[in-house]
Amino acid sequence: MTSAGVRGYTEHDAPADSIYNQCVRCGLCLPSCPTYLETLTETSGPRGRISLIKAVGEGELDLRSAGFVHQMSECLDCRACEAVCPSGVHYGQLVETARAQLQQAAPARSPGALMARYFGLRLLFSRLGFLRFAARLLRFYQRSGLQTLARRSGLLGALGLSKIESAAPRISERFFIPAGQHYTASASRMSVMLHAGCIMQVAFSEVHEATVEMLQRSRCNVVVPAAQGCCGAIAVHAGEIDLARELAKRNIETFEKSSADLYVVNAAGCGSALKEYGELFHDDPVWARRGHDFSAEVRDICELLWEIGIPSPTRAVIARATYQDACHLAHAQRITAQPRALLAGISGLELIDLPESSVCCGSAGIYNLTEPAMAARLQKRKIDNLLTTGADLVITANPGCAMQLRAGLKAAGSSMRVEHVVEVLNQAYA
Ligand code: SF4
Ligand code: SF4
Repeated sequence: MTSAGVRGYTEHDAPADSIYNQCVRCGLCLPSCPTYLETLTETSGPRGRISLIKAVGEGELDLRSAGFVHQMSECLDCRACEAVCPSGVHYGQLVETARAQLQQAAPARSPGALMARYFGLRLLFSRLGFLRFAARLLRFYQRSGLQTLARRSGLLGALGLSKIESAAPRISERFFIPAGQHYTASASRMSVMLHAGCIMQVAFSEVHEATVEMLQRSRCNVVVPAAQGCCGAIAVHAGEIDLARELAKRNIETFEKSSADLYVVNAAGCGSALKEYGELFHDDPVWARRGHDFSAEVRDICELLWEIGIPSPTRAVIARATYQDACHLAHAQRITAQPRALLAGISGLELIDLPESSVCCGSAGIYNLTEPAMAARLQKRKIDNLLTTGADLVITANPGCAMQLRAGLKAAGSSMRVEHVVEVLNQAYA
């Protein structure tokens, strides 16, 4: 992130004029933008949003104007526009700093919204003990019969909680809690630190277990230090950049103290944030250097396994499958070929192309809660595309996508399964 205090913004974390002035208004990004595809409205596309950000910067539009607030919220921060932009506009930095400005300006919020923000960001994601406690309560609710009762009684609808409740992930039987684990591999070639994340450790523990097994099989020792924490992606998306910096410092220090050569992540959204820690500290030279050094060692699991090579699979995985690109893997990290190439090596796995594979599914962090109508439209678009493939398995690389796809497929009455790339890879070994 580059700082530039320009007219309509405050100095701290302002959208940089050097970025928005790079836009030549060619419009090549429009067909990649999910919200533009849905609305065909200029302001709901990247070019329109950049114009709005520039207009505030030049003092022609008020930061708090309804149109600006709406467009900064409606954008998914999926970075599809950034990946195709011939001028190299770093759009993600623009929308994230614009949201930080809105957050600093603190437009009037209800006490309930303020509490939800504090509870969600400051407690759940900053202190993972609270997250695990909340996950245990949710697991009890899901397993004890209370969920069935609440759904049948109509209570959730009456309280306006149906949407949130159905979007919640299925909590894992056992958690994958970072506690200083050390998994050794025979004839090891390197040590890697595994990022346990937040939601991943309570709702996708089986993905972590498969990741550890794939890494060991590929001759990597794995360490999981207890001191690590959330990557800060959700905080950045919510405009809480200072909170994201606090979280980033914890992960940088933990990695520096570990014996690991590389930092491995299996959630696309986290990977994208971890790889941008240097930019996060743009106005702090010491932390910027440590952030850049850290980010240089971060690898997505598919990226690493492809780079170092995996042993030949020993058994077939019989499935008709399709691969869904997670935005923050495809657009932010530009990783599209590696997962497909790894999956192509599994016998019995028939891979079918998914139309609009890289168009966002509408998950995008807390987008389901902040923009439920657009999230539902994009979810339906994705499910319609999935159903055209005739696949019985959809493979992805991000927990948010997995949750969104599972909820959408269930609502559509489809039995299509959703699995992470490493889970499918892991099944290919006896
Ligand atoms: S592709 Fe890039 S330069 Fe062209 S309109 Fe979009 S953001 Fe601007
Ligand atoms: S980040 Fe995604 S939703 Fe936002 S303008 Fe770019 S393509 Fe559109």
